[in-house]
Amino acid sequence: MPKATPPDSPEQSDAFRAYIAEQGLRATRQRMAVFEAARSIPGHYTAEDLLKKSRSLDRTVSRATIYRALPLLIGGHIIREIDVGRDHKYYLAEIGSSTFRAQLVCESCDTIVEVDAPFMEWYGKAVAAKHGMKPISQKLQVTALCERCQKRKALRP
Ligand SMILES: [Zn+2]
Repeated sequence: MPKATPPDSPEQSDAFRAYIAEQGLRATRQRMAVFEAARSIPGHYTAEDLLKKSRSLDRTVSRATIYRALPLLIGGHIIREIDVGRDHKYYLAEIGSSTFRAQLVCESCDTIVEVDAPFMEWYGKAVAAKHGMKPISQKLQVTALCERCQKRKALRP
């Protein structure tokens, strides 16, 4: 895994503390360790990856801490949850871009590629408006085969 070098962002940390307080919770050392881990892992990761990274920052972080922290991290816009229809979800640190993003998901190895797709967002809004509806959320996920898996399949008879 490449070394993560997130920009030092005390603002995000303060905003997250404020968000936790709004939920009537305390910004415990463990929760803040999960927060630091969640925004420093590059690319898509699982809850298990987050547990490993969090424990490298604070050994007392438990699996339960992770599962309780995930909704807070999502609600506080620190990370995004990506459901590719598996029994586990993927997470991705928010990059602060508001551009609509689509996901290409390899069916075979779960490689996820995110692409900017502002046109899709516009299209969703336009279609919804045409039917007198106001869009709340939308996503575009393309199930595909990555190059490596295509080659692997080609080799196998
Ligand atoms: Zn693949």
